Amino acid sequence: MKGKLLVLGFGPGNHEHTTERCKEAIVESDCIIGYKTYVELIQELITDQKIISTGMSEEVSRAQAAVDLAEQGKKVAVISSGDAGVYGMAGLVYEVLVERGWKEQDGVEVEVIPGISAINSCASLLGAPIMHDACTISLSDHLTPWELIAKRIDAAGQADFVISLYNPKSGKRTRQIVEAQQILLNYRSPNTPVGLVKSAYREREQVVLTTLENMLEHDIGMLTTVIIGNSTTFFYEKRMITPRGYQRKYTLNTLKQRLKPHERLKRENEPWALHGGQEEVTNTASQKVQKEKSATAVQTVQEEVSATVVETDKEESRLTALQTAEDALRRIDERNGISSKNVDTISTANKVESIFELAVSPGVVNKKFTPKQLLILAEVIGEKGTMEYTPHHQILLQIPTSEPGQVTEQLEDAGFLLSPIGDVISVKACDFCDGEKKDSIPYADEIQDRLGGLDVPKELRIGFNGCGMACYGAVQDDIGIVFRKGKFDLFLGAKTVGRTAHSGQPVSEGIEPDKLVDLVESIVKEYKENGHPNERFFKYFKRVKRVKGFQYQDVAPKIKVEPAPCGD
Ligand code: SF4
Repeated sequence: MKGKLLVLGFGPGNHEHTTERCKEAIVESDCIIGYKTYVELIQELITDQKIISTGMSEEVSRAQAAVDLAEQGKKVAVISSGDAGVYGMAGLVYEVLVERGWKEQDGVEVEVIPGISAINSCASLLGAPIMHDACTISLSDHLTPWELIAKRIDAAGQADFVISLYNPKSGKRTRQIVEAQQILLNYRSPNTPVGLVKSAYREREQVVLTTLENMLEHDIGMLTTVIIGNSTTFFYEKRMITPRGYQRKYTLNTLKQRLKPHERLKRENEPWALHGGQEEVTNTASQKVQKEKSATAVQTVQEEVSATVVETDKEESRLTALQTAEDALRRIDERNGISSKNVDTISTANKVESIFELAVSPGVVNKKFTPKQLLILAEVIGEKGTMEYTPHHQILLQIPTSEPGQVTEQLEDAGFLLSPIGDVISVKACDFCDGEKKDSIPYADEIQDRLGGLDVPKELRIGFNGCGMACYGAVQDDIGIVFRKGKFDLFLGAKTVGRTAHSGQPVSEGIEPDKLVDLVESIVKEYKENGHPNERFFKYFKRVKRVKGFQYQDVAPKIKVEPAPCGD
């Protein structure tokens, strides 16, 4: 009878995360072969199977024993943790079979059963760090030369992969993780988010969030998986999150997307894409010349390398494909004036451009742009960026750049007020009759200083008007403030959009100026702490019924409207 090899990965070690097929395979097998610790981890799934467990570094003998038993007609489960095909036993089992001339038609049956690898189980504990292109690199140099591992780390660093480091450190291998960190610091910010997960889904599970700069200050061992974010990864609420795309074609703070579905794949909305590989019509003459030069350089270098290989004797024809490729690349770089020692040039060339989004305005009170500011805007936007005037007296900028810090510096130097985009507070004031009714301006400025840009559960607008005319619609904002007769009126919970849009409820009149900013700050603080994610302020007010002592009213109170001519 033909035997069978069931090569399986049982996942992280908690049976809830072991697949049904994996459990069945263990039950249906005659014998189980695995590393001792792994056999212990699946103890409760074992019935009367013969167990062959050996120590670490005995993978080859385990694979050989498994093939021997299968050739004798047994069903053999070869177990790995995680996934058998990711640094597990699957490859080695096939290598042994190949060595013995195995043919599928008349040889033993082989089934490789997938499991959850550490990159997936650890990522789930960290949040969503591998949402974009990612790679795994094992730092174990027992079977792979360190030089090659270092090259892979370097390449992954340059290419901005999210990187999952397996086998980062052991009692004897302590330098590799230090070297890996140093290589990656050539390409990534010291603040790059890093997650360290030890024994995921096992008894002694530990999860640490740190940064590339500080990761070595934490305990890292053989049971740790190190996940290093890419240039867009961020921390939020003790989660490590990598956005789905570099080029943010979507907005998360509105129900309506800027681009309609049929517009999203258009060339003008994806200037960074290849678009079926067609030649870009916008290619300039100089780009074409550069292309031709590069093509010639590649051809010449290929010829030179071929000639070198021919010239060198068989002795030297051991030159590997990797070395040949590296030699060719080095020569191209030299021709293009890029020295391999010039790390700055190389890392700049490899910096990743992403779309940087922010909003600008001349100020909270000031509504006037200067010609110089408009010129600066045109300069920072360039050919590929976009500017959009919003209903909130701001200009929304989308700028492809790898240097957002430089952009903000330039805009701040030009006197712009910068505001982040998303679920943050924005303060919108009137122009105080071109600055003539200026008494309340310092309070608007102070609210902007203290609260502008603050993260909140959902985008929140504070409207501030300098007199009872409220001609900039403060009462239509989430929090409305109107200066009247030397004091302030407060409105809470307007529903700013939708068919059921309504004004805010007038909750207080005659607030003393010196109390205003603290009061507004405390309202915002309460909402920030207690609001659900994505819960708009008006919904929060309706749910909790009371904010800082102000009572929500199901039926908006009928208020006696005092005559308040402009100027009162
Ligand atoms: S009329 Fe009142 S609300 Fe309108 S801009 Fe002047 S001060 Fe502001």
